[in-house]
Amino acid sequence: MARSKTPKLLTTQQQIELACKNLRSLRWDVDYKYDTDCSECDANDYHRNCVIKNFRIESVNMKKISASVLANVHEPILGYCIDRILHISEMYNTYSWDYQKSSGYYGEEIDDVTFTGASSIDERIWELAQMTDVERILKVLEWEYGSILPILKTVKSFAVENVEIADVALPNDHYVAKVKVNSRYEQGMYDEWELPLGICVPVSNGQVKVVDGYHRVTKAISERAAIKKGDTILQVIVGR
Ligand SMILES: [Zn+2]
Repeated sequence: MARSKTPKLLTTQQQIELACKNLRSLRWDVDYKYDTDCSECDANDYHRNCVIKNFRIESVNMKKISASVLANVHEPILGYCIDRILHISEMYNTYSWDYQKSSGYYGEEIDDVTFTGASSIDERIWELAQMTDVERILKVLEWEYGSILPILKTVKSFAVENVEIADVALPNDHYVAKVKVNSRYEQGMYDEWELPLGICVPVSNGQVKVVDGYHRVTKAISERAAIKKGDTILQVIVGR
């Protein structure tokens, strides 16, 4: 019998298991700094009594963290939802992180830097396991915004679609102002973004309106205008 050369795709359950496993085992992509208190040290004795103080996280690389967690997830809608959960859990926030230290022969040292909300992320990812794509997206949007837009309640299915930039209707200025408030956490985050950029619903004239991912979509559009001229297709999730 001929063997299929196509690699066997993972089931949704397996992808979720691996995402949670990756979440637990990844070396966190965070930059940190700390000071050392040497008041109890003898400089001639290798600083054996250094004490760590003022530990602080300088930056959290959400793009790398997301890519590591999603390394085994090939379903784009599932990947989009898990990525949103990482953000909803404020993983990007430097105050969401903690560290463990221990005393070594040469004073205190940092053993590990950990995200304090990992178990709640785990729980949320597992909640997605028994859901359809429609239920997943609505659940993630509800977690993020606290409610589900009426326009989304009639959606029968979500699918990844390639849409022309000209066919994307952008929402109002109020929305833009909100996006700018959070944008300092997101600098450089969507370069070479591999997930769908956002969630859209059809409006009139064959256009689609962005309901989630406004910042990613507008950034992608401005990048195309500036660098990738001629590439006018955006990959988004459209609910119909
Ligand atoms: Zn010292």
